[in-house]
Amino acid sequence: MAEDKIASLIRELLVELGENPEREGLRRTPERVAQSLRFLTSGYRSDPKAVINSAVFSSHANNMIIIRDIEVYSLCEHHMLPFYGRCHIGYIARSRVLGVSKMARIVECFARQLQIQERLTAQIARAIRDAIDAEGVGVVAECRHLCMMMRGVEKQNSIMTTSSVLGSFHDDLATRSEFMQLLAGRTAT
Ligand code: ZN
Repeated sequence: MAEDKIASLIRELLVELGENPEREGLRRTPERVAQSLRFLTSGYRSDPKAVINSAVFSSHANNMIIIRDIEVYSLCEHHMLPFYGRCHIGYIARSRVLGVSKMARIVECFARQLQIQERLTAQIARAIRDAIDAEGVGVVAECRHLCMMMRGVEKQNSIMTTSSVLGSFHDDLATRSEFMQLLAGRTAT
């Protein structure tokens, strides 16, 4: 089983780091880390299309729909350290909308794998556009990266913001600025 293999690799890693994997506090650590890594990378074994398709509803709404403050927890692929924060999704539907409760699950599918924030943002946007043939989609993610914070590089408390805009959110400046203004908590004029 893959988890056993990961656990034995973690045991080796502990030795290489100068630890004694037999001491009491570490005895079950390899199994715990293996289990935790399986969970944090479960996105490799989940199917975002299946998650999305179970949450598609018909609707004639063609106004902008915005879901704010979806929690994001992911692992950076450069250091395998967490980055975390929030993401905000906006879209304009044609004839189908997505269940709000599934938005967090969609984000998780892509976040629970080794990632860079830019790709995560783009994958979420494309998945939503493709699933409901949205007229436009915008995704903004704001995350803190522990690889920067813990290692003391660059501005330790800085938040990285990435965005991905597709369709009318890309082509139409008024649509994009309405989205950005709504995210900023202001009413679009
Ligand atoms: Zn990193």
